[in-house]
Amino acid sequence: MQILSQVLFVIALGVAAYFISRRVILIKKTIQLGRAEDRTDQPAERLKTMLLIAFGQKKMFNRPLVGFMHFIIYAGFLIINIEVLEIVLDGILGTHRLFFPFLGGFYYFLINFFEILALGVLSVCVIFLLRRNVVKVQRFQESRHREMKTWPRTDANLILTIEILLMWAFLSMNAVDSLLQARGVGHYAEALTGSFAISQWLQPLFSGWSTDTLIVYERAAWWFHILGIMGFALYVTYSKHLHIFLAFPNTYFSNLKPKGEMPNMPAVTKEVKIMLGLDQPDETPAEVGRFGAKDVRDLSWKNLMDAYSCTECGRCTSACPANITGKKLSPRKIMMDTRDRLEDIQKGWLKNGEDYDDGKTLLGDYILEEEILACTTCNACVQECPVNISPLDIILQLRRYKVMEESSAPASWNMMFSNLENNMAPWKFSPGDRFNWADNLK
Ligand code: SF4
Ligand code: SF4
Repeated sequence: MQILSQVLFVIALGVAAYFISRRVILIKKTIQLGRAEDRTDQPAERLKTMLLIAFGQKKMFNRPLVGFMHFIIYAGFLIINIEVLEIVLDGILGTHRLFFPFLGGFYYFLINFFEILALGVLSVCVIFLLRRNVVKVQRFQESRHREMKTWPRTDANLILTIEILLMWAFLSMNAVDSLLQARGVGHYAEALTGSFAISQWLQPLFSGWSTDTLIVYERAAWWFHILGIMGFALYVTYSKHLHIFLAFPNTYFSNLKPKGEMPNMPAVTKEVKIMLGLDQPDETPAEVGRFGAKDVRDLSWKNLMDAYSCTECGRCTSACPANITGKKLSPRKIMMDTRDRLEDIQKGWLKNGEDYDDGKTLLGDYILEEEILACTTCNACVQECPVNISPLDIILQLRRYKVMEESSAPASWNMMFSNLENNMAPWKFSPGDRFNWADNLK
């Protein structure tokens, strides 16, 4: 029976590893659809940004209470998973609490610490569920934000529920383990002596159960806990919770240039310099390519990694002046649409082969002109994002395509463009009239 359990465990581990690695390879390939962009300069500054923003959760604490609660879940995720190592080894080797003989009293300290964190994670997940579904925090409401309909809402609720169940399985498993140990049952009594900080308070729930039922529950909770973690690890690759992993590389490769600095297209800069007599045409001019972005292949790999790192928290949207004043633009939706487009391309690959083209484009089929035109380029979304995503960068590239490739811009913009061209200022006055305002000054 024990050997069968070990074989089943190794099979489950192998199946989970296979599907997770398949998914990771696919996501990596999708991100690589983006055009090249060098984000490897200033490694020390990049490391510092990652440590502060992703590891230290600095921007999350801009809203201190929610930041603190999120930190509990984050710390729980990082630390409790040390315990998973023991569970995996127990599963493979057929042992029970393998680390106890090596760690002795420190083992109790560790499990007590994990239990306190587990209680914290469980409590915060309940609060977050209430916040979304009972208190109805405005930025998560589908009635106000159409991007929060159906799947994003279900995804958030599902993951919080799974975390609650996993924490419950961990705590109740320990409670039952302590009861079996106190009853002197087999390897339970051999492995440990004593109860743990939180699970001891759960023991009265199970103390009336027979020993056989307790053993069945302990095994069921153990399997549920570890299979749940394997399933969770696979599930996050399909979910906004991918940010658990991607927040680290995404912040490392942050844009370190001053906010608001818009990247010029070198080919356009050269043309302008030639016009001004500051440069000479190349003998064999390089191919210019597309101006701006129409689809995800025109965006950079970092824009695409941004899309996979988005937590759908809506902090960007809640600070966006266009959204606040009722315009159709939501920077969160820009990121979610970009990710949806990537996921649809993936589905096309899997179903019809890698040459498949569904004829759709990010601009037009996912993001509408009305949305990108509403952006004031204020950078509030970039400032607010807890994982340093820039929805603005995508918006600007889509806009550049609209204006430069399709020559399609609102009439007021076209007027401004010709003023810039003719008068070197956005206004319709000639440069010679610039100081007219001072004529009557004494
Ligand atoms: S830069 Fe554009 S999308 Fe971002 S907050 Fe400002 S108006 Fe909204
Ligand atoms: S872009 Fe950033 S702020 Fe906006 S929803 Fe995504 S993670 Fe949140």
